Amino acid sequence: MTASEPILLPARHGRAVRVPAGHGLRVINLHGTQVVDCWAWNAHDLDEAMSMEASRVWSQRLNPVVGDTFVTNRRNPILTLVEDTSPGIHDTFMAACDRHRYERLGCTNYHRNCLDNMVEALAGIGLAIAAPSLASFNIFMNIAVDADGRSLVTGPTQGRPGDFITLQAEMDCVVALSACPQDIVPIHGHAANAPKDAAFQVLATGFPRLPPTAPWMPAASAP
Ligand SMILES: [Zn+2]
Repeated sequence: MTASEPILLPARHGRAVRVPAGHGLRVINLHGTQVVDCWAWNAHDLDEAMSMEASRVWSQRLNPVVGDTFVTNRRNPILTLVEDTSPGIHDTFMAACDRHRYERLGCTNYHRNCLDNMVEALAGIGLAIAAPSLASFNIFMNIAVDADGRSLVTGPTQGRPGDFITLQAEMDCVVALSACPQDIVPIHGHAANAPKDAAFQVLATGFPRLPPTAPWMPAASAP
């Protein structure tokens, strides 16, 4: 099996793809400025979903670095970050944008959004989930913790054209990606804040292999 060609993730839209266990999903920031929201599910049971909150417990990290594993709401490894050519700035705490967010931002007409993109993307491959979650892995999104240790700072992406990350599937999974349509809060690069195309690629080979991490345990956990 050879690597698939990169597939376009059009600006402001979503796509979903099946990623077999052991394969890689490469998410490519074609322009270096685009935030890509990411969700994942167990392909054999869509009630089992990648969980940002459970993943932070697992890794004891606010945002992942290469080698970190994301886990599901059932605490099973689902994706491991095995490669990252970007500056490594990603986000796990911000809710995906949805139509309510844009209404609160003053939009009076429908604004495309990541949550609806995710639902549309799944429908595009014949799938639906019972409870769409706002908790996405926000690839390339620049959310920093302020010096006070508790406040968040929303900044523009810090990437370069062609930056990519690769996520290794730890189970057969379905992944949905959304090229975030946010054009009000300045998150996309330093200039126009214009949502742009990204791309993705399912890889059978040609990416680093890393074992999934074990769950973090407290130092004094001996019974
Ligand atoms: Zn969004």
